[in-house]
Amino acid sequence: MSERETPKLDELEKGRWPSFVKEIKRAAKKSPMARDLLHVLEKSFDEKVTHWKHGGIVGVKGYGGGVIGRYSDVPDEFPEVASFHTFRVNQPSGWFYTSTALRQLCDVWEKYGSGLTNFHGSTGDIILLGTKTENTQPCFDALTGIGFDLGGSGGDLRTPSCCVGPARCEKACIDTLDICYNLTMAFQDEIHRPRWPYKFKVKVSGCANDCVAAIARSDFTVIGTWRDTLQIDQDAVAGYIGKGFPLKALVIDKCPTNALEYNREAGRLMVNAEDCVRCMHCINKMPKAIWPGQERGATILVGGKATVVKGARLSWVLVPFMKMEPPYTETKDLLRKIWEWWDENGHVRERLGELIERVGMKTFLREVGLKAVPQMVSRPRSNPYVFFDAAKS
Ligand code: SF4
Ligand code: SF4
Repeated sequence: MSERETPKLDELEKGRWPSFVKEIKRAAKKSPMARDLLHVLEKSFDEKVTHWKHGGIVGVKGYGGGVIGRYSDVPDEFPEVASFHTFRVNQPSGWFYTSTALRQLCDVWEKYGSGLTNFHGSTGDIILLGTKTENTQPCFDALTGIGFDLGGSGGDLRTPSCCVGPARCEKACIDTLDICYNLTMAFQDEIHRPRWPYKFKVKVSGCANDCVAAIARSDFTVIGTWRDTLQIDQDAVAGYIGKGFPLKALVIDKCPTNALEYNREAGRLMVNAEDCVRCMHCINKMPKAIWPGQERGATILVGGKATVVKGARLSWVLVPFMKMEPPYTETKDLLRKIWEWWDENGHVRERLGELIERVGMKTFLREVGLKAVPQMVSRPRSNPYVFFDAAKS
């Protein structure tokens, strides 16, 4: 495989866990790029300094984002990775592939790149690691030829992502796959042509279990919920109890808002819909007996992000309930209003949540045309002076 030793990297192959070094070594058996990648990494470990430099914009025709430029500062020593650009490829909604599509993708990447992949990056894209400058356009052409497109990078709309939703979860409250696909197709320009202060992420979870961690990772968070009340099958509840299921300890006592009560005489599990915060806990514990309500839609939250200008934060409620039906006009209109305001007012690298914090929620709400509602504060029920009329909200 390799004529040079890599003693420091070899340490990273030890232990019980999967090792990226092991995988790069496997790729290096047939990819000279993967071989030089190993060696430049060993050199960095030796010298305690990176040998990658930011090389400016690398792109393909008609696109501003999707390819992330990477150059080595020791190209003479490692010519195969003198340029080693990353492709971000838009993943299918919910990360469903046919084996044929995966084979085609790998064939393209073995032809034009290092053969190394990362399924998937934290935004959700397929990450193809390392191609040469001269191969970027042919690689893009080949990718589009098999039906794939690039995702977002830089100051643009990053590739929207979603959980598998109704494809596998019978308790999904919204069609996450369709919403994600529809928004992706509607906002192609915003994904491919960076023009904003910084990145903007949209993630869609089908219920409050939030399997794509949308609340922690997206500027615009869509979480499926219901507006009416939980559906409870009392016969199924009796079935659980008959089998010795610890209803009180596992469900009633764990409800975060004490919204559940079991009436022993009537043999009925009751929920106070006013108190239920739609957290999914009871549904998760008793999936045969408890279902989300029938009037389903989504809660829209804003402001989630990891660190950079300011610390990491979770997104917070902006719209307590929004119907989610194609073509999702209300969601798209809200997104456009938010982008227009953020684009006008945001500093460089300032995410939406940071801008709202800097200028104030009141200003933000006025600009996007929304009224303040008690659900916008983090814990509405812990403040005894906040009331709201559900009929008007
Ligand atoms: Fe299923 Fe809900 Fe998780 Fe989506 S967030 S995968 S609907 S449990
Ligand atoms: Fe309580 Fe959560 Fe069940 Fe609502 S969904 S009743 S808040 S456990």
